[in-house]
This record gives sequence, structure tokens and C-alpha cells, in this order.
Amino acid sequence: MKTVYRPEMLYVDGRFVANAELVVGDGGEVTETREVRELGLGVDGCLVVEMKGKALLPGFANAHSHSFQRLIRGKAESRAVSGRDFWSWRGTMYYAASSLDPQQVYDVARMAFLEMALAGTTTVGEFHYLHNAPDGRPYEDPNLLAKQVIAAARSVGLRMVLLRTAYLRAGYELPSDPGQRRFYETATDYIANMEALVRECSGNAADVRFGVAPHSLRAVPLRELHEIADWARANKLPLHMHVAEQIAENEACLREYGAAPVALLDREGLLGRDFTAVHAVHVSDEEIAMLAETGVTVCSCPTTERNLGDGIFRADDAMTAGVRVALGSDSQAQIDPLEDARELEYHLRLARQKRAVLDAGGETLAARLFECVTVSGSGSLGVAGGDLRVGAPADFFTVNLQDVSIAGNSAEDLLAIVVFGLNRSAIRDVAVEGRLIVRDGIHAQQDEIVARYKEVYESVWRGR
Ligand SMILES: [Zn+2]
Repeated sequence: MKTVYRPEMLYVDGRFVANAELVVGDGGEVTETREVRELGLGVDGCLVVEMKGKALLPGFANAHSHSFQRLIRGKAESRAVSGRDFWSWRGTMYYAASSLDPQQVYDVARMAFLEMALAGTTTVGEFHYLHNAPDGRPYEDPNLLAKQVIAAARSVGLRMVLLRTAYLRAGYELPSDPGQRRFYETATDYIANMEALVRECSGNAADVRFGVAPHSLRAVPLRELHEIADWARANKLPLHMHVAEQIAENEACLREYGAAPVALLDREGLLGRDFTAVHAVHVSDEEIAMLAETGVTVCSCPTTERNLGDGIFRADDAMTAGVRVALGSDSQAQIDPLEDARELEYHLRLARQKRAVLDAGGETLAARLFECVTVSGSGSLGVAGGDLRVGAPADFFTVNLQDVSIAGNSAEDLLAIVVFGLNRSAIRDVAVEGRLIVRDGIHAQQDEIVARYKEVYESVWRGR
């Protein structure tokens, strides 16, 4: 049976339309959007859902997540513990990574995905590099932890793109790091494990997709990177990689290969429309031109980058050159897609001492930022979605137009109010392929997910 959603405002084709209808088919796809409601027309045999006082918008795509890092929120915020820089922050992160058993990996991932769902996220790209048992040996099923994360997304109801990560070494001329022993595989094992995972988890009712994620140039040497990228391209899977997040990474890349990361990837023919460079904070003008010419998407993670002190992504220069920009919650310091969208702009305001830096004329600044967190994120992950055009999956969220953070609005200014001012308390319903996973601000399994997460938190941090 088709379902007809009747919000007070519907965001479609880059604008809000008052009193429009969204029609969703049996398969969870958008079959029609109608501007003018003609009562009684075409709703026979349909389930009609009235959404008075609500606006309905396409759901967010989180293009870069490490779900287990939800566990270190607030645990690395002092100099004494590990707060001095990115490299010392990793000590806390490695401690959490070394502590979790498979059940706990599942419990923490569900907590992260629950928070994403409550924030309006409908698709998550999980950059997953926890593979081995705590002693560094593979589990009997080397994909056990990847499957735990997939199961967590299924349980919460999010669409998942599992970006299985290749992590082969600590870095150029660095001895292997015991903190990373749960991450390491050989390139051969990586490809074999990836093949098995795709084979076992795909099927007619596939609700999970895959991507290939060489962790970084630091963690994957060039020869193996080619091998892995060739496999990804032969299998038409998107490629995601951390690129130029930290100056020290760039310096090591220069020492090893005589080129900065993006320049090296370009020289080696590794960039392309299927490639997403995560962060790309420390890149030259020439490298921005390379990203643009090859059609790369940059996934920026502003809430994490400011937390870690990485630096500021030059979104103005990149977007002017034509680079598509997606967004990710990365370390889960915060899980709020709109906060990432507005920080993309706000960091530049502070750096440039200007306002509306990413306003390029044409579409509004708010629409441009909203596109990053919806359409560009889905594109980066190689899945449909991000808008509510006919044929797209009915992935959406609704907001209460009377919420104190957005009350007083019109079709003209609502998107700017949402992008720059919405508080998560305004988000009421969230649907993935037409299936409501959040109703009136509550997820059905919320209490149980939070209770289980709190148990993991207690057991990991007790005595630390
Ligand atoms: Zn990351």
C-alpha cells in the first residue's frame, strides 16, 4: 500500500513547498510529490499520514564515521590525559579500541547509530578498521567485527555503507604499534576478507553496501594501495581514504615518496569520481585543482577537526574549484550533521574575518550547506538518496515547526533557520525507505540501547 505524508512544508527540488504531499510506494521509494493537495484525489487505498505543524526534509548522509570512538567522548579533553595533540589523542582512542569484545563493539555502534538517527541521519558510511581480536590475531571469522557493526546499523534501522578499512603498517619507517594490532592485515588478506564480506552480506534484500577504505598513505604503502584500489575499481566500489589531516603525515609522505599526499595520489592515477578524500586539510592550491579535475569528493569533518586541532579545510577554495564536499561525524565528538554543515562555513568566517564565505550566488548558502550533508554524502558513498525526487528512497526526517529553536518561519527562510539554528529537539520523525525508525523524537529501542551502552562505558573506563 502507498503512504501519503502530508507535512505543512515539504523540502523538494531545493525549496520548501507549503501543503505538499510526499507519496511513498510499497518498496519505500518516492513515487510522487505533489504541490497542491487535491483532497480525495489519488489517496484511495493509500495510508494517509497527517503531519500538521511539521516540515519534512531529506535525511542526512554521514559519510565518515568510526562508531567505536563514541566511547571516548569527553575522555581526551585535558592535557594531562591525552589532549595535547592528535597524536597523543590516539592513545585514548587506542585504549578504547583495545578494550572492546565483539558484543561491546555492537553495543557501542548501536549507541552511535542511535544518536545519528535521532539527529536525522538516514545513511552512515562506517570507516571500519577494528578487525582482529585484542591479541592481534584474526577472529575465526575475520569479518566478525564488521558484521557486528552491520548488525548494529540494521538494529537501529540506518542504511549502512561499510567502508572496510585496510590498515597495513604504523607508518613510514615506524615499527608496528601495539595499539594498532587489532587493525593490521596484509593486502592479500584484506582483499580476501573483503570478498568474503561482500559475498556473505549481499543478497536480494541487501540493505548494506560496501566501500573500500585504505586507511591513509601512512598506513598503506603505495604498492599495496594500487592493489587494493584496483580491486575496488574492478568491483565498482567507492574508495575512501584519510588524506592530509595532519602536517606530520604530509611530511612523512614527502620523505617517502617525494610528493605531498594529493599530488602523489594524482601522479599515481588513484584519484577519480569514485574517490573520497577525508579531511584534505593541508593541501596546496595545485592539489585543490587536482581534486577538482579528477572529480574527487572531499569529506570534511569539522566538529572532529576542531576537536583534534587538525586545521581548517579550505572549503571556499575547494568549492570554487568545483570540488564536491560531503560531511562526516568521524570521531563522534559530537553527532550533529547540521553542526558540521554550519561549521564548514563558520570556521572560514573566523579565518577570513568575513561573512557568508561559501555563498557563491545562485542557490542560497543554506541550500549549499544542506546539499553537502545530504546529496553529496550519498554520492560519496555511492548510494541513492539525499533528496526526495521520484524514484529516490524515502529517507527523511521531520521537524516541529513550533520548536523554540526554529519557531517563526516561512517557506523562504526556513532552510536557513534549520541549517543555522535548529536544535536537535526539533527533530520528530525519521524514516529510512519509508519505514519510521524514530517516532515523535523516540527510537523504539532507545532505552535498551542506552542501558547496554552504559554497561560498556562502566566496564571500559572503570579504574582507568
Ligand atoms: Zn576518520
